[in-house]
Amino acid sequence: MGGNEDPRMQPGIWSEKEGVFILPDEWKLSYQVSCGELSPFFRALKEEGRLLGMRCPSCGAVYCPPRSWCHDCYADTDWVEMAGTGTLTAWTTVYFAASDLVEKVPFRQGGVHLDGARYPIIGRLEVEEEERLVSGARLRVAFKPQEERRGRVSDYYFVLDEVS
Ligand SMILES: [Zn+2]
Repeated sequence: MGGNEDPRMQPGIWSEKEGVFILPDEWKLSYQVSCGELSPFFRALKEEGRLLGMRCPSCGAVYCPPRSWCHDCYADTDWVEMAGTGTLTAWTTVYFAASDLVEKVPFRQGGVHLDGARYPIIGRLEVEEEERLVSGARLRVAFKPQEERRGRVSDYYFVLDEVS
């Protein structure tokens, strides 16, 4: 890329609409991220449409998002499958997102305290009725169709759990 195709070579412009000076810019970055010892979590998302957590064999604490060691005992944890139901702790509307969630902006995202888990996990909420997004609302995890899953946290989302 060179010359006038590079946005950084373009002059800044005044935006009447926003009342600010705008500088064209570009940021392209391709890289790979190793999921390391948490790889089974991402692999299960992609290949099986399952949400895994980790359980302490000593005290029984369950972590989802997974933790490879217990925060209380420091014991190594074991993989377990989460039931996928839980309660909403808080939520917001996301207007700026990176990578694979860009296509969903704006979207609702919340903290979901999965049943049995020590801490909430963050997830996209597919709930149309804003008045139903109250703290304590019952939610359950859902997954994209297999052909659309990529082993990313955007493979799952939460919907209202109408039956529990
Ligand atoms: Zn423990």
